[in-house]
Amino acid sequence: MPLRAIVATTASKTAAALSRAAGRGDGSVIGGWIGLKIDPDLLAHLSSGRAVALVSGTNGKTTTTRLTAAAVGVLGRVATNSYGANMPTGHTSALAKEGHTPFAVLEVDEHYLAQVINSTRPKVVALLNLSRDQLDRAKEVAMMAQLWRTALAGHPEIRVVANADDPMVVWAAGASPQTTWFSAGQRWHDDSFVCPESGHPIERANGDWWCTGCPLRRPAPQWVVEEDGVIDPRGDWHLVKLQLPGKVNLGNAATALAVAGEFGVRPIEALPRLSRVTSIAGRYAQVDRDGRNIRLLLAKNPASWLEAFDMADQAPTLLSINARDPDGLDTSWLWDVDFSPLRGRPVLITGDRAYDLAVRLQVNQVPFQHVQTFDDALAQVPPGRLEVIANYTAFQDIRAELDRVN
Ligand SMILES: [Zn+2]
Repeated sequence: MPLRAIVATTASKTAAALSRAAGRGDGSVIGGWIGLKIDPDLLAHLSSGRAVALVSGTNGKTTTTRLTAAAVGVLGRVATNSYGANMPTGHTSALAKEGHTPFAVLEVDEHYLAQVINSTRPKVVALLNLSRDQLDRAKEVAMMAQLWRTALAGHPEIRVVANADDPMVVWAAGASPQTTWFSAGQRWHDDSFVCPESGHPIERANGDWWCTGCPLRRPAPQWVVEEDGVIDPRGDWHLVKLQLPGKVNLGNAATALAVAGEFGVRPIEALPRLSRVTSIAGRYAQVDRDGRNIRLLLAKNPASWLEAFDMADQAPTLLSINARDPDGLDTSWLWDVDFSPLRGRPVLITGDRAYDLAVRLQVNQVPFQHVQTFDDALAQVPPGRLEVIANYTAFQDIRAELDRVN
């Protein structure tokens, strides 16, 4: 590396370590920021000589990145931003901290994908899904798909691994000459009723979809979730044993196997590593307290709430909603979520914006009880499972109550 990059790397690591020592988080953002101030090309220098995979999409990025890093780890050491710092500062910090590794697997905020492709020159880019998120800040889904499509069209050397079940993702990947398709399912259809190419309606039947006005349609996937396993491109079925719940995580595992496959990792080698992943920065963590088994589910936008309802057991459920800066300030997305799957379960609500949730649940005819604190919620439910579904800062608040469970 050039001298400036070496100095920047050292400064980045030192700043991150000082920030950690001061108890101000994991230091990855400040470390990366200082490194990039000293050398704006630092991320490119740090990526050079590594085989890089990028993982992007609205939902499932953090989990899929963790599973993919585990799978690629079959081949050697992997640098990864495992705690969700998914902008260039976080990538820079993650690579600086790990020192030289042959591989890197990086979660990328969907808005930064084009920039991070240019800096890191990845071997593989995985595209998971696109749906509405943070209404006051995020781009509209069709605009995001267009940005991805343009970015990838400019890099025909990249292998794109993409979700065949999401029409917006298929269109975004459609200009790339090297594509591997996986089928991870798509429970949320409300952001892909209209073809991004022609504006015609998209029809769906039996897991298939097609545009009624142009040739855009679901491509045949090479990696497919089937039952509790995954079919690989040779047609062999592999049982996937995960400690993470839900069909959505089976899809995330299929994605990880597909990306690792592009690095030459076989499913039979990767699967034991996937089965050892328990929770990711508190997501899916289970904590026993006062006879209650508390499980934490993070849900940030309508599509991820649908997945959370699918994962949660028929048990008392605490919902917590905040609208602080990292959550987005606009809670009107609550009206896009159908809460009716919660009918029949005891439902408790809390958080800064519990009253927004209360109005929504009332209209959705879901009975609920409002509690002021997490301890109040615990006191209200009998011994046994308590499911907690919360958006970002609400999740972090509850995680702090549980001593920052990982
Ligand atoms: Zn069309």
